[in-house]
Amino acid sequence: MLNVPPQAFPAPGSQQRVSAGGRAKVPLKPGRSLMDWIRLTKSGKDLTGLKGRLIEVTEDELAKHNKKEDCWICIRGFVYNVTPYMEYHPGGEDELMKAAGTDGTDLFDQVHRWVNYESMLKECLVGRMAVKPIAAPKGMVPEKKGLGASVKDLTPSYDWFQTDSSITVVIYTKQKDMNAELVIVDCQDKRLRGEIIVGDHSYLVEVDLDHAVQEDVAVNIAEKVGKIEIILKKKDNVHWKMLGQPLESHNTFIKRTDRGLFYRKCKLVSKTEVTHDTKLFCLMLPKSTHLHVPTGQHVYLKKNIAGTEVVKPYTPVLPFLPLDFKEPFSHDGAHIYLMIKIYSCGLFTQALDHLQIGDYISVSNPEGNFKKSQVQTLEDLFLLAAGTGFTPMVKLLNFALTEVSCLRTVKLIFFNKTEDDILWRNQLEQLALKDERFEVQFILSQPTKDWVGKQGKISSSLLSEFVKISRKDSKVLICICGPTPFTEQGVQYLKDLGYSQEEIHAFTA
Ligand code: FAD
Ligand code: NAP
Repeated sequence: MLNVPPQAFPAPGSQQRVSAGGRAKVPLKPGRSLMDWIRLTKSGKDLTGLKGRLIEVTEDELAKHNKKEDCWICIRGFVYNVTPYMEYHPGGEDELMKAAGTDGTDLFDQVHRWVNYESMLKECLVGRMAVKPIAAPKGMVPEKKGLGASVKDLTPSYDWFQTDSSITVVIYTKQKDMNAELVIVDCQDKRLRGEIIVGDHSYLVEVDLDHAVQEDVAVNIAEKVGKIEIILKKKDNVHWKMLGQPLESHNTFIKRTDRGLFYRKCKLVSKTEVTHDTKLFCLMLPKSTHLHVPTGQHVYLKKNIAGTEVVKPYTPVLPFLPLDFKEPFSHDGAHIYLMIKIYSCGLFTQALDHLQIGDYISVSNPEGNFKKSQVQTLEDLFLLAAGTGFTPMVKLLNFALTEVSCLRTVKLIFFNKTEDDILWRNQLEQLALKDERFEVQFILSQPTKDWVGKQGKISSSLLSEFVKISRKDSKVLICICGPTPFTEQGVQYLKDLGYSQEEIHAFTA
């Protein structure tokens, strides 16, 4: 049973009150938290008004249900009565009403395609759209459909061959700069899934294999020619007549954002304290998974809480801050490290905190719009982080110090409430001593009287004091991450100080 006091929910400053992805969020009334919604869905109350019947909905019928007190929305061909959910929607009623009586798939995908609406709204399901779904279900876009000629030319292809003991699937991407971060492979229960990222598109090989294979999968990438080999070991040395049965999205090349999120179960192998309320979770990927989360990108964790699948984003970090800059830090690729603050009233983080070593949790493919190329030719890099907004800065810092040859300065301006909240303070101070390009400035909003450092909150004057380029025409990037209002204010102050859109990167969902 979850220990969530209903009265405290959602508390001021909760994720359920503040916006993700730069959208304004409205304060939810007391008793309208996600946990309250889960309770309502479990209460047995008829939330569709159809007494459990599922119906076929025509476009005309859908359009009639366009008022707050009678609001239906179609997402990926399924129609939901969202009226009972209105007051629980963290984005507010007006956001939901934008899609009232229509197909809200595009709007939904733009704002939060990672939210598991199928689970959240399952009790609100009215039925399917009659005749044709207005938008194709994720991952079901027919092969190459709707792609421009130039994209068609880029469409990867695949082939396979076998020896007595192995099966090799070869994917020809036609891309020169393939790397491990662009290749995601999973093989579970005879199901092989190989996703290749090509720009903002995704190519998928997805088959139900002809025969069983062993757990460990090898992936070879010929970076210069863009050829990828997925090598599977046969369980039995039999001759395969075919690779396997193609699954729904097999051999499709579609926009990345149209591809559904894929999850695999990862084992919690350690949980170590970082501060009084923040822990470093180490998750082990299955042996059959090949996945490297790119710098600046996040993954989604999914967990069933009280019968509802809840999904939250987290940004992988390194196991520690490396102090050796000769080459970029690389670990075995088998583990994902997440630095997570446990909120006393947090729905998801409380559930995470209760995970035991050896328990499993679902981890998605990476997402995010940060590109390393934004950093490659930089001279000055500023990182503005608040609280766990530090997490995307970890890999970024390591990448900049090891791989950006023209870099002159990296400055982390780290906002926290108290000294006890500062994440990896010792490591940051050691790094600053070791590398003269790196500087760290801690700013506390609620320090004790002993604090001799800087005090305050993000402001124009603080930013003009600390964000100073090393030369007049320096190539600069300022990355910012923290609670959404912090990030939004920071971006505005930086713009007011004369920095251009290209010189600012805000990490959001
Ligand atoms: P909720 O149930 O949503 O909130 C309940 C309680 O948590 C509130 O009552 C309040 O006490 C507290 N709370 C929640 N958010 C805040 C806040 N911003 N300020 C003050 N109190 C708050 N978090 C990490 O710890 N590590 C990460 O690496 C990380 N990466 C993220 C990446 C992205 C792209 C995004 C959008 C968010 C990231 N987060 C990260 C935040 C994370 O997704 C959750 O929002 C967070 O863990 C809270 O979840 P919850 O369900 O426990 O809290
Ligand atoms: P926190 O401890 O509550 O706050 C850290 C610092 O930020 C404090 O000094 C705090 O000052 C200040 N702050 C908080 N809200 C502010 C606001 N509205 N305006 C100005 N300053 C503000 O932070 P946290 O609990 O660790 O939360 C971290 C946030 O980062 C979460 O919202 C999380 O979702 C987000 N995050 C995003 C990503 C991403 O990639 N998008 C990654 C990781 C984390 P006060 O004393 O005034 O509170």
